[in-house]
Amino acid sequence: MIRPVIAIVGRPNVGKSTLFNRLVGRRQSLVRDVPGVTRDRLYGTVAFERWQATVVDTGGFEPGSTDDLVAAMRAQIMQAIEEADLVVFTVDVREGLTPVDEDIARILRRSGRPVVVAANKVDGGGQEALLAEAHRLGFARVLPVSAEHGRGVAELLEAIRAAAPPPVAEAATEGPRVAIVGRPNVGKSSLVNAVLGQPRVLVHSAPGTTRDSVDTPLTFRGRPYLLIDTAGIRRKGKVSEALEKLSVVMALKALERCQVAVLVLDAAEGITAQDAHIAGYAHDAGRALVIAVNKWDLVPPNMVTRADVTGQIHDRLPFLDYAPICFTSALRGSGLGDLFDTVDRVAAEAQRRVQPGELLSIFRAALERRPMSWGGAPLRIQSAQQVAVSPPTFALRVNLPGKIHFSYERYLVNSLRHTHPFAGSPVRLLFRKSAGRRSGPSRPGRVRR
Ligand code: GDP
Repeated sequence: MIRPVIAIVGRPNVGKSTLFNRLVGRRQSLVRDVPGVTRDRLYGTVAFERWQATVVDTGGFEPGSTDDLVAAMRAQIMQAIEEADLVVFTVDVREGLTPVDEDIARILRRSGRPVVVAANKVDGGGQEALLAEAHRLGFARVLPVSAEHGRGVAELLEAIRAAAPPPVAEAATEGPRVAIVGRPNVGKSSLVNAVLGQPRVLVHSAPGTTRDSVDTPLTFRGRPYLLIDTAGIRRKGKVSEALEKLSVVMALKALERCQVAVLVLDAAEGITAQDAHIAGYAHDAGRALVIAVNKWDLVPPNMVTRADVTGQIHDRLPFLDYAPICFTSALRGSGLGDLFDTVDRVAAEAQRRVQPGELLSIFRAALERRPMSWGGAPLRIQSAQQVAVSPPTFALRVNLPGKIHFSYERYLVNSLRHTHPFAGSPVRLLFRKSAGRRSGPSRPGRVRR
């Protein structure tokens, strides 16, 4: 399913980030606990019953200096409009409308995008007069909310769901859907062009996809692939520093739609905070992942080895230790065969299944080698079952769900990878309460990534 993207826009201090946090809620993320990976939560998933969307808090992109605040904000809103399927226009009714609000309203009206107005800071009763002012902006959907106290948020969500385009089913394709992601200037478009320029590549005309046709179907060495969102990658524009961050929205959309993600890094520049940021999203998306160290031609052959770079990546992005690393030069067209072999390999690995009997003996053997206990009770595994592929997900019935430390969970995952590497895939474990005479009905376990 392709989820809609929802952007929260508004002038500074109207409560965009508070509203964002309300919509997205708290979510466990392994990546956030890794030092050096700052995760200012600007993107998140909002769910309402079975409906899901990606939400963007554009507040995080507010320009730091006050030089050209209005121009920068306008550009930022234009960008948000371009990327989003629906805009949540947040205003502060307690303070009242300002000329900036009206300016934003004008841009939004012209955009033709569906808009839901969140009339924020309606904290008590008797604020109808304030709401009336918000209605003056000229949008049909105006909802009173208090992001701070959580009031009206459910109603807002319902309005958003009603106004957003419905999720679109991904068209069936031949071969894996591959997304090339990474921060600007690492060479994504050059890589795509280098692939398309290979002698054994056949580019087909794009199938009629339901949303904008931005994909490139191709055959490379007789095997089919679909490069996702290549139009977005190839479209180039002058974007300011602050706006460059918004290009992450594009990466997010592609990550959601792909089966295999290729995270492109720049060999000459090393790993930056923004690389780590996108890497975190790639991990969270749960897709099979390959890291491409591009611009390898810029690295003097005898100074830096592949092992050095691999070590650096494992240091800076330890949560991606399962992702194979390829070395490419888009400039010379080298490393592309290896990259696509690796894409094929991780795509196949993500689909692998392990039988319950074998799983149970792998986990029990791991337990025997390194027992774990909590409050004097030894951990026991009653059963183990693979409940999903892509990413491979395993449900374990245990006597101590919720008591298993993250490091022990990682030990179990590594024990599994020892016999079944699942190269390129994050492996997820779900711990559920084992069925026992005294334990009553089973409850769903906690989900860790
Ligand atoms: P994107 O923003 O990630 O799509 O990056 P581009 O493909 O636009 O590349 C950014 C810059 O890096 C351009 O000047 C490219 O010519 C250059 N570049 C891309 N790939 C390579 C490479 O493999 N080697 C070298 N030396 N330069 C590259």
